[in-house]
Amino acid sequence: LVEVPTIYPTGSEKQLIQVLTGKEVPSGGLPLDIGMVCHNVGTAYAVYRAVEFDQPLISRYVTIAGSVAHARNLEVLIGTPLGNLIEECGGNRHTLRRLIVGGPMMGTAMHSDAVPVVKTTNCVLVESTVHDVPLPSRDEYAMPCIRCGNCARACPVNLLPQQMYWYARARDFDKIQDHNLFDCIECGCCDYVCPSQIPLVGYYRYAKSEIWDQEAEKRQADLARQRHQFREFRLQREKQERAERHKKKRSAVAKGGSDEKKAAIEAAMARVRAKKAGQDSAPKNTDNLTPAQQRQVDEADARRQARQRKENPAKDTGESQAANTQDRPQ
Ligand code: SF4
Ligand code: SF4
Repeated sequence: LVEVPTIYPTGSEKQLIQVLTGKEVPSGGLPLDIGMVCHNVGTAYAVYRAVEFDQPLISRYVTIAGSVAHARNLEVLIGTPLGNLIEECGGNRHTLRRLIVGGPMMGTAMHSDAVPVVKTTNCVLVESTVHDVPLPSRDEYAMPCIRCGNCARACPVNLLPQQMYWYARARDFDKIQDHNLFDCIECGCCDYVCPSQIPLVGYYRYAKSEIWDQEAEKRQADLARQRHQFREFRLQREKQERAERHKKKRSAVAKGGSDEKKAAIEAAMARVRAKKAGQDSAPKNTDNLTPAQQRQVDEADARRQARQRKENPAKDTGESQAANTQDRPQ
C-alpha cells in the first residue's frame, strides 16, 4: 500500500503516476509508453469477476455524497436511477437544487434524478435547497478574459488555458490542438481560479467534441472515397475482362471457327432430313385396314358423295369424286 498525498488532481492516472513515481507520461501518449498500466479498483474487480466467474458488468460502486443524511459507497446495478440512490442515503429527491455526476471539479450536472447509473458513474454529488453544501458555483454571466494568467498557473498539465479558450471561441481547431488540447484532463482548476468566471472546461469539451465530429466525418468521407475508387477499378477490370473474352472468341473463329460452324450446320441439316424421312415413312391411319374397316370407309365415302350430289346436283360428279378423294382421311 502506498499513501497518496492529498493534492488535486491526483485521481487522474497521469498525475497519479507522476506523484507516485516522478515519471511523466509524454504528451499524447499512454502510461504504457513508460511501461505502466493504471487501473482503478472498480475496473480491477470487474475484470476479476469476468475472468473468474464469467460475470458480465452489471453493477458498480458509486459514492453518494453532499446533501444526504448518510454519505456512503454503494454497489448498485447499472441502470438504477440516481434518485433511488439519493433516497437510499437519506436524501430528499424533491428538494434537489443540483445533481452532479463525477467530482466537484470535473463532474457533469444532470438535468434529472431519473438519469440512470452507467458503467462510468463513479460519484453522485447532491446539492439541496435545504442543506446546501459548498459545491463550486458560478455567476450567471462570464466576464471577458483579463489575461491575468491565473489559469495557466493553476493548470497541473502546464497548458495555456487562456490561449485554448481563445482558439475554442474562434473555432480554430488546428491551433487549439497545437496547444495540446487533448492533454487537458478537464480537472477544472483553470475554471475555478478564473476571476472572470469563464466556463473554460466547457469550451475545451466543446472543442474536443467538434474535433471528434470532424474526424468522424473525415473517416466517413475517406471510406466513401475508397468505395468509389474500388467501384471504378472493378468496372474497369470487368470491362477489360469482357474485351479480352471477345478478342479470344474472335481469334478462335478466325482460326478454325468456320469449319466448326460448317460442321454444326451440316449436323443440323442431317437431323432435319432424318426427321422428315421418319415422318414420310410413318404409317397412315388408312393403311393396313381390315376388310370390315375398309368397308366402313367405303360406305362413309358413298354417303358423303350422295349428300353432296343431293345438295348440289349441278356439280360435276367427277369433280365431287376428286374432292371426296382429297377429303378422305389418310
Ligand atoms: S484566469 Fe480567466 S481571466 Fe485570467 S487569463 Fe485565464 S481565462 Fe483569462
Ligand atoms: S482543465 Fe484547465 S487546468 Fe485542468 S488540465 Fe485542462 S487546461 Fe489545465
